[in-house]
Amino acid sequence: MTDQWWLEDDDDDMADDLTEAQLSELVAALQTLHDVLVAELDEGSDRTETVDLDQPIGRISRVDSMQQQKMAQAQKQRTRGRLSLVKVTMKLVEDGDYGECRRCGESIGFARLKAKPESPLCVACARSAEKR
Ligand SMILES: [Zn+2]
Repeated sequence: MTDQWWLEDDDDDMADDLTEAQLSELVAALQTLHDVLVAELDEGSDRTETVDLDQPIGRISRVDSMQQQKMAQAQKQRTRGRLSLVKVTMKLVEDGDYGECRRCGESIGFARLKAKPESPLCVACARSAEKR
């Protein structure tokens, strides 16, 4: 890998490789996503803590609020997982390895990365991972 690995191929054969413009667009998207997730986690901690189970509320709504609390916690866990994936991906960008499938090493492709900039796998590998 050279410092300018993304500039090496102007070949149409390598259409799946990211251009410099695509890369910077994705890096910006990653940074935005990072900030959004961090903000979401802050809000999430407020929300889960304000559910007061000692309040004299009916049994049903107590179950409701416990369920909501559980859902908020699960959501928070997903957000945390996504955030750590985003952080790992930002490290890949620094190392110049961004955009390669971590399982097969093929280009993940701009369209997929644009939809989900933290994707660690190409479509084919993600599909086979989901089947398990
Ligand atoms: Zn793959």
